[in-house]
Amino acid sequence: MSDVFQFMKLSRNPGDKIEASVRKIEFKEIYQPLHAVDAADQAGRCLSCGNPYCEWQCPVHNYIPNWLKLVEEGRLFEAAELSHQTNSLPEICGRVCPQDRLCEGACTLNQGGFGAVSIGSIEKYITDEAFKAGWRPDMSSVVWSDKKVAIIGAGPAGLACADVLVRNGVKAVVYDRYEEIGGLLTFGIPEFKLEKEVVSQRRRVLEDMGVQFVLNTEVGKDISFDKIYSKHDAVFMALGAYNAVQGGFPGENNHGVIKALPYLINNVRQSLGTLPAIEKPISMRGKRVLVLGGGDTAMDCTRTAIRQGAKRVLCAYRRNEASMPGSRREVMNAREEGVEFLWCKQPIAIEPMIGGTLAVKLAETSTGSQGGAERSALQLVEGSDEIVECDHVIIAFGFQKESAKWFEDFLSETKLISANKNDYSKDLPLRGINVWMGGDMVRGADLVVRAVFDGRMAAKDILERFEISSWMV
Ligand code: FAD
Ligand code: SF4
Repeated sequence: MSDVFQFMKLSRNPGDKIEASVRKIEFKEIYQPLHAVDAADQAGRCLSCGNPYCEWQCPVHNYIPNWLKLVEEGRLFEAAELSHQTNSLPEICGRVCPQDRLCEGACTLNQGGFGAVSIGSIEKYITDEAFKAGWRPDMSSVVWSDKKVAIIGAGPAGLACADVLVRNGVKAVVYDRYEEIGGLLTFGIPEFKLEKEVVSQRRRVLEDMGVQFVLNTEVGKDISFDKIYSKHDAVFMALGAYNAVQGGFPGENNHGVIKALPYLINNVRQSLGTLPAIEKPISMRGKRVLVLGGGDTAMDCTRTAIRQGAKRVLCAYRRNEASMPGSRREVMNAREEGVEFLWCKQPIAIEPMIGGTLAVKLAETSTGSQGGAERSALQLVEGSDEIVECDHVIIAFGFQKESAKWFEDFLSETKLISANKNDYSKDLPLRGINVWMGGDMVRGADLVVRAVFDGRMAAKDILERFEISSWMV
């Protein structure tokens, strides 16, 4: 019988965090896994609310209190089964979701000041430990149909779609231009948030379930979309959003100014040993680095530079700390690791200096109110300009969706729909075209868990189109 007052007797524990002085020199996850006893104790803090707000705030609507109960009772495999009923990548969401803004932010204990149940860490624990103990998704009752779906993009949206399709007996062939699956999970999010072995393990599981990956294959270049469309019964497009937002100020393309994503990908490939011979390794060792931006990508760049041995890492953001769009947890981690923040600073220009360094001109911004749903326009404070000298600037202003010429050509050739640049909608299936879309390419830069949701919903829709009614996961 569980103790209803456990939440008062035991404080919140999301797993030990490796000390900043140790973690800032290695590319390893910073949160240690929970042991079975701690996971059960932490799960026992759940109040089993009648109307669990955590579930509503979780974008895939995980059955959180139910799997917490199973963990408390030590029923690991049942917890893994239940967890996979709503989430195709629970061990990954448990690691990278901004829980403070989602499930844990909505936890009744958080509202009551007791510290939220550590939902993310327990979600990660369930699948990590179940995999270690030999659990795999049960495919024994799957009856394979003759249907075959192409998925373009092996990011979380594409993987989630493939997962649901094969569990329902539909072949899924996933195309990606990269050499590994994961999309931004592999070529974006750094190892200190998500070690790449976690993604590799998920790849093995999906392949065992019957998902086929066709990698190093860029649609529109190595294979035409028409060919893919004609060879499959449906297509799910999950291309992501890779159009880096520009600052629009002079000097953005100067030598020494680097874009966030190429920098992060270069670093991951150095770690994986897959950096192409023609690409030089980028290192911030001994450099003074200024990162421009305030989202998760900016935090990832600052902390990567720290781990590469940068002499000093500054991060300039145009609004105040409370208005930062990224996870609070990641800002705190960056600060602990030695990142220094410049709030309310807008870059105006980057100028090269004699000796190869850069002079970044920053102006102070002001606004009546910051943060909240309504973000007021910023004004530059006259005469507030200051110069920050550095060796490298990393630009991390986020990403927008972009159109693909080959897809626009396809749409106009169908004559059913005119291409609508930069505004991919999800209504193509309604117009009789067997193409579904989801994830960042539709939403714009967003979250892993929302991409997972889109992939799963697209699969559900495709199954309905195929009149495969056994929607089971
Ligand atoms: P992606 O993950 O971008 O995958 C798209 C895939 O499509 C890629 O593999 C790409 O190679 C492939 N592709 C594109 N065009 C083609 C083509 N023509 N042919 C073949 N393949 C193609 N979210 C969080 O929830 N937590 C975080 O901590 C977090 N950190 C982030 C850090 C960084 C640096 C970045 C950039 C994003 C971060 N995000 C985070 C956001 C999250 O990664 C994305 O929202 C999510 O990955 C989107 O999934 P997706 O499947 O839509 O697209
Ligand atoms: Fe929380 Fe994300 Fe897991 Fe949902 S998927 S329970 S939001 S960590």
